[in-house]
Amino acid sequence: MTEEVVIIGNSFSGLRTAIACAKHGYKVTVIAPNNHSRFIGGLQIAPNGLAALSSLGVEQEILNKAVRLLAVQIKAFDTAVSLTNIPLSSKNDPYVSIARHDLYEILLNKCLTNSLIKFMDARVLAITNKNNHTKLALDIGEIITAPIIIGADGWDGKTRRFISPSANQKNSGYSIYRGIFPASKVPAGFSYPDVQLWLGNSCHLVSYPIQNSQAVNFVFAFSERAFESHSIDAIFCNHPVLSMLGDYTQNWHLTPIKQFDSLSNWRRGGITLIGDAAHPMPPHLAQGAGQSFMDVASIENNLGKGLTLSNAIYNMVTTRMPESHSVAKKSQLSGNIFHINSPVADLRNQIISMAGQKVISDFLQDLWLTA
Ligand SMILES: Cc1cc2nc3c(=O)[nH]c(=O)nc-3n(C[C@H](O)[C@H](O)[C@H](O)COP(=O)(O)OP(=O)(O)OC[C@H]3O[C@@H](n4cnc5c(N)ncnc54)[C@H](O)[C@@H]3O)c2cc1C
Repeated sequence: MTEEVVIIGNSFSGLRTAIACAKHGYKVTVIAPNNHSRFIGGLQIAPNGLAALSSLGVEQEILNKAVRLLAVQIKAFDTAVSLTNIPLSSKNDPYVSIARHDLYEILLNKCLTNSLIKFMDARVLAITNKNNHTKLALDIGEIITAPIIIGADGWDGKTRRFISPSANQKNSGYSIYRGIFPASKVPAGFSYPDVQLWLGNSCHLVSYPIQNSQAVNFVFAFSERAFESHSIDAIFCNHPVLSMLGDYTQNWHLTPIKQFDSLSNWRRGGITLIGDAAHPMPPHLAQGAGQSFMDVASIENNLGKGLTLSNAIYNMVTTRMPESHSVAKKSQLSGNIFHINSPVADLRNQIISMAGQKVISDFLQDLWLTA
């Protein structure tokens, strides 16, 4: 009989895991609310994340929808003066950006063509565990169980709380505005095929093109204490370049940045966490989804060696827990550097303009190799 796996969550981690399990002959049920319209903005996928997707056979589809990003241009936020350029893509290791919805559609279509994967439009309301027998109560009135359950329901999901009820997630004091703008409407310089990172006092801005460079994705992170008004209009109104985004302010979505405890355990009963449910991290290194793909690539790697799914998942936890925690720490550290306030921020910018290229390139190469 084909072994059954239940996956909670139908976003990047959930779909990627479903494809991997079905490829190795497991029958998969993905449980999640069927809400296709929730994906805002884009994702950068670094070489490590792309490599972790390569076994799916959708690389060309991803590259067709993605923009290859050649460099990060680092600029001073207040003046838009260039500090340094960091190369990103090499010939064999592309670094790309893609609209979240496009990546979701590619993964979903791959799932829909596999008869071993089925979807349940439902939300998990509660999880119980008796005698190591784990049961999921769903909002459609059903109780579901399976020997292997994957918690891919994100940083705020039920499975993370089930495995570690006391784990903290508190506001970091920073918030993020995200917005997508038609490339033809953004100020000159933004739609160029590069990532832009503008470093300010207690704030930073990231932008990059998506949708074949037809649109530009903006992410503005700021300290809630340093900016009295949290309105994006008020923050950008006197800026020499960003004030020109003003006509499109209805496009911005505000989200607080959370700070998470690292979990020392990703398993309880039949459930194992994966992706953001296991290792949520601040977005400053654009590694969250890439790390999720690496979790699944690790499972696939172990299945390829002939291990059972249960053992492959066990090995994934052992390998990926320290790796992903290290990336989460580096993301936090990067955020601390991005958010330095005046007058140290000016010194930071001077150091970056003098020595930034080598130091940051080495840091990123190291991250993509070992992450
Ligand atoms: C501003 C910002 C920018 C980012 N930029 C990047 C980037 O450039 N590159 C990158 O790699 N990462 C980036 N990330 C991180 C990335 O978004 C996450 O790492 C990624 O979305 C995690 O995917 P996931 O599938 O693990 O979880 P999620 O995307 O959170 O998905 C969780 C899933 O679980 C489902 N779910 C939740 N609760 C239940 C329930 N009770 N029952 C059933 N289903 C449930 C949801 O419907 C959803 O399908 C960024 C994050 C932020 C905030």
